[in-house]
Amino acid sequence: MSRADELGTNLAAVRDRIAAACAAAGRGAEEVSLTVVTKFFPASDVRLLADLGVTDVGENRFQETERKVAECADLSLTWHFIGGLQSNKAAAVARTVQVVESVDRAKLVRPLASGAEQAGRTLEVLVQVSLDPPGAGHRSGVEPAGVLELAGLVAATDGLRLAGLMAVAPLGEEPAAAFERLADVRAGLLAEHPEATRLSAGMSGDLEQAIAAGATHVRVGSAVLGSRPPVG
Ligand SMILES: *Cc1c(COP(=O)(O)O)cnc(C)c1O
Repeated sequence: MSRADELGTNLAAVRDRIAAACAAAGRGAEEVSLTVVTKFFPASDVRLLADLGVTDVGENRFQETERKVAECADLSLTWHFIGGLQSNKAAAVARTVQVVESVDRAKLVRPLASGAEQAGRTLEVLVQVSLDPPGAGHRSGVEPAGVLELAGLVAATDGLRLAGLMAVAPLGEEPAAAFERLADVRAGLLAEHPEATRLSAGMSGDLEQAIAAGATHVRVGSAVLGSRPPVG
């Protein structure tokens, strides 16, 4: 099977899963968009995916993102940055992608806004919420209690558009339970920012649970591209 056939088959299976999950949740299949996470895979795969109708791709490391965006400059893709952000790279990330999903602290807001200004466009921003239990060691994402303050700062900043929330289900817990907490956080955000409707949640292993909890965007890597190298 060619790589194009393999990606096409996998993509069709993921689209079927999304459609089935939407039907089970009483939602329309058009309510959920797919971002294919292409981290660790070459730009040639991104190109094949674009041919297969993929419009949104996700990356989590800046240098890899920068290289692939350049290699795919002729394609009209929307690039999502979904990885941990260093504040000294934030402006460069904002110049490179259209959506940053992993904004988890106030310190990133200024550099993201100046990167967006340099690029001459508005950057779509998602606030990443931590769903880890209190007291967990390493966590990415702002605590649920800090979401409104960070979201308010993003919404008040020129050059940034507060689009919604992003989260990853923690290890060692049923994703459905974690996504229920996420749905509560989102309801609180929508009460203050009704325009921030995007909810990016759900990956290869838990997209069904995320869609049941209201996800509007799922981020799927391995179910489309195959397994990644174990490191990173
Ligand atoms: C890698 C990654 C994904 C995709 O994970 P898969 O399990 O391969 O689908 C989604 N979201 C984030 C934040 C990631 O880093």
